[in-house]
Amino acid sequence: MIELPKLPYKRDALEPYISQKTIDFHYGQHHAGYVKNLNNLIENTRYDTMSLEEIVKNSDGSVFNNAAQVWNHTFYWNCMTHEVDTMPPVILMKAIEENFGSFENFKQLFIKQAATLFGSGWLWLVREKDKKLSLLQTSNADTPIAHNLTPLLTCDVWEHAYYLDQQNQRLAYINEFWRVINWRFVETKLTES
Ligand code: MN
Repeated sequence: MIELPKLPYKRDALEPYISQKTIDFHYGQHHAGYVKNLNNLIENTRYDTMSLEEIVKNSDGSVFNNAAQVWNHTFYWNCMTHEVDTMPPVILMKAIEENFGSFENFKQLFIKQAATLFGSGWLWLVREKDKKLSLLQTSNADTPIAHNLTPLLTCDVWEHAYYLDQQNQRLAYINEFWRVINWRFVETKLTES
């Protein structure tokens, strides 16, 4: 039985950048829906006793799609905060500068790749096995943890992430997302990886 984790903040905490209405649907309907689907799919199967991460790494088809979406959304909520820091802390900043030249360059690349991802998916900052940081676009439910990459930051660019606030204007959503990134969480993922 996989449970829907609690949001790390109140549903209106990200306003005015991301509305409570969006969180109500995105967390309360979409994320909760993936949890419900997954539990229906894994009942009385070999997945029943696995952790969510194990299910993601050992499944395909509908089980993978729902498990990965559960995992991705939980990670996504943690990537945002109402305690806004506009710049990454020092260890993360140094890593970004080493890998992308400058923070401004990283920001432009991140926004461009999130905006140009075709269809539904996720834009990730990941750490590769050789410790290099890179940006990765994944389609639909696909997730870095299925490819032995360490996720540090993600932006959900499925239309359900922004349609209520921004209609079809994905770029407007990405710019609002950028303002609520939890850089301290991203740095924690880097230093513990
Ligand atoms: Mn989503």
